[in-house]
Amino acid sequence: PPSSIAIIGGGIAGLSSAFYLSRRFPQAAITLFEKSSREGGWINSRRVDVKDGHGNRAQMLLEAGPRTLRSNSGAVLELINLLDLRSSLITTPKTSPAAKHQFLQIPGRPGLTRLPSSLFSLLSLPYASSALVPSILLEAVRPSNKPKGQDDESLGAFLTRRFGAKFERLFGSALVHGIYAADSRMLSTKAAFPMLLEAEKRGNGSLVWGMLRGREKVGLFAGYDVGEVRTLVDNASIFSFFDGMESIPKALKSYLNTAQNVTIKTGVDVNGLRPTTNSEDIEVILGNGETLNASHVVSAIPLPELSKLTSSAPADVLPHLKANPLSSVTVINVVFPPSTRPIHPLGFGYLVPRPAGGYAVPSSGFLGTVFDSCALAAQDTGASGFTKLTVMLGGPHLLTQAHTRMENVLAQLQHHLAPINHLQKGARLPWPVYYEATEHKACIPLLTVGHVGRMNEMKAALKGGPWKGRLEVVGAGVGGVSVGDCVEAGRNVGKDW
Ligand code: FAD
Repeated sequence: PPSSIAIIGGGIAGLSSAFYLSRRFPQAAITLFEKSSREGGWINSRRVDVKDGHGNRAQMLLEAGPRTLRSNSGAVLELINLLDLRSSLITTPKTSPAAKHQFLQIPGRPGLTRLPSSLFSLLSLPYASSALVPSILLEAVRPSNKPKGQDDESLGAFLTRRFGAKFERLFGSALVHGIYAADSRMLSTKAAFPMLLEAEKRGNGSLVWGMLRGREKVGLFAGYDVGEVRTLVDNASIFSFFDGMESIPKALKSYLNTAQNVTIKTGVDVNGLRPTTNSEDIEVILGNGETLNASHVVSAIPLPELSKLTSSAPADVLPHLKANPLSSVTVINVVFPPSTRPIHPLGFGYLVPRPAGGYAVPSSGFLGTVFDSCALAAQDTGASGFTKLTVMLGGPHLLTQAHTRMENVLAQLQHHLAPINHLQKGARLPWPVYYEATEHKACIPLLTVGHVGRMNEMKAALKGGPWKGRLEVVGAGVGGVSVGDCVEAGRNVGKDW
């Protein structure tokens, strides 16, 4: 078993790794290095005071990074159980408008288009049904057209092949904007949506038939210690915590600070990793010039960062670290004052598909907008009636500073929300009582076509060669970008040690 473990990176993947390793190897001395002054990585929640001109004050919880979790991750539910975070859970019931209503903002058309939440509602939504119903019916009768011998393809290519180009642009591109802030024509289906490939197989080439046939129900949480948390989130579509997503890294930090065998070093970056020649240890070179030898190492930093740390080793010693680009996103938190008219329709929010002319044509830069007050209003305290929403800009769109200026963002929101929100013609959205734009550079790895195969080659290289199975690589760029994927990776790290 390991005698000393170095973990590089204090995001959710690194913290989860430390949590599980400290329990699995109580005798090992574990040191986690985080280059910034705080743990949590992209997870970043804060509370701000807002007031309007009528003496109403509220404390709004804002997220700069991830904002919600889905109840399908056994690893996250287990962590919530083990960290005793049950009492601060805030759930959005499956029956609530935030769970049932999602919208598209189709470039070039004012207002929002509601997406169907069920087969019945499909027929009651004229625009969505005119775009969706024929594509779905045709898919069900289209013979299998999976290219022979092809192991992976982009989600864009997959959806175009099965449902046609219009469907892909309206729905596929919007979905990928919402999750990956990326171009659906670059994203690997096998890495990001393996369930679609499984359904296509089940349906003998048809996704629709495969989905209707349904998946074999396997115990979703078998082997996870989820306790009562399961019942708490059973009827929830999404959930978070009273103090936001940062509740998880904060609770992990408190746990690790009291663990006998863990030391967290913030403000210390690792800038080199070298297998030693005279022992099985790995030499960890720190930015402050110090070095330490660790019997085992976990990398929980973006893969291009890891490639800098291992740059003295030949590329084939640890291949594919620079294969995927990372998307950049500007997140704009906006709080509107209480008003007599609703600012937006009830729902989770809206996504904006790729413009018909592609990303080269000038656009609003919008990827989508989340109606936070609708899904997780219980996070806010004080006077009610304030509306908070979050606009996401960037990804494959070229952004200029003008895109993120509040007057321009507000003009776009007016264009998107006005037809629904304004009972009186010509009425304008109020000026927000609070707004803040945060630019996240290179924040979401784009898992491009072939990603799964490349990662398998990387893992094979780690097992053999100079690393001798003593370096493991986890994080958003390896096994999936969601918080659940990152926690799952941390839970599995070191199982072969
Ligand atoms: P990171 O958070 O990037 O952590 C890596 C850490 O390593 C950082 O703290 C960094 O400072 C440190 N580091 C880097 N280099 C070094 C070095 N050389 N030495 C020491 N330390 C180093 N997921 C969801 O499930 N739900 C959502 O709603 C959601 N929304 C999102 C919205 C946004 C705007 C973003 C950016 C992401 C969102 N995600 C969401 C995805 C998810 O938040 C991230 O993929 C996940 O948090 C990544 O965690 P990580 O630990 O892999 O990496």
